[in-house]
Amino acid sequence: MNNRPIIDTLGFAQKTQSQDLQLKLVDLPRLTDVSAIVNDVIQANIIGGIQHDGKSFIQLKILSGLTLTCQRCIGLFDFQINSHSRFIITPTEDELVEISQEEQNINTMLAENELDLIEFVEDELLLALPMVPLHKEGDCERPQLLDEQSDPTKPLSGLRQSS
Ligand SMILES: [Zn+2]
Repeated sequence: MNNRPIIDTLGFAQKTQSQDLQLKLVDLPRLTDVSAIVNDVIQANIIGGIQHDGKSFIQLKILSGLTLTCQRCIGLFDFQINSHSRFIITPTEDELVEISQEEQNINTMLAENELDLIEFVEDELLLALPMVPLHKEGDCERPQLLDEQSDPTKPLSGLRQSS
């Protein structure tokens, strides 16, 4: 994505704007640490609005079926991201603290004139993805990937013959 979408968060909320993003992995450099995603495109939708109580918010939806590479057997497996988060925007830090103390389950963000939406989505993706992608226990395709020669516990086995 050549033109990175930058928004004024409060303005975006007050005008109830909406933005769809189709992100490619090259747009998400911090995700390459996971180095496990095979899919090309990640879909995200960001909408702004005002709640009944007058608070401005930005809502982020990421709905993507990803194919990850298991770090144990190098096999592929499907991982569904269905992330849906709402962030209350506060103009000042004091208000931010106040709201987070009132309601602990609410996400808050400080108003920003220039929020980079791709970074915003990337942050959420990093939270939604497993730190180390792995099959469920027992689902690995080739669980014996290490052969015996490279098993570092083997040379010690002879030392454990105590009475
Ligand atoms: Zn596996």
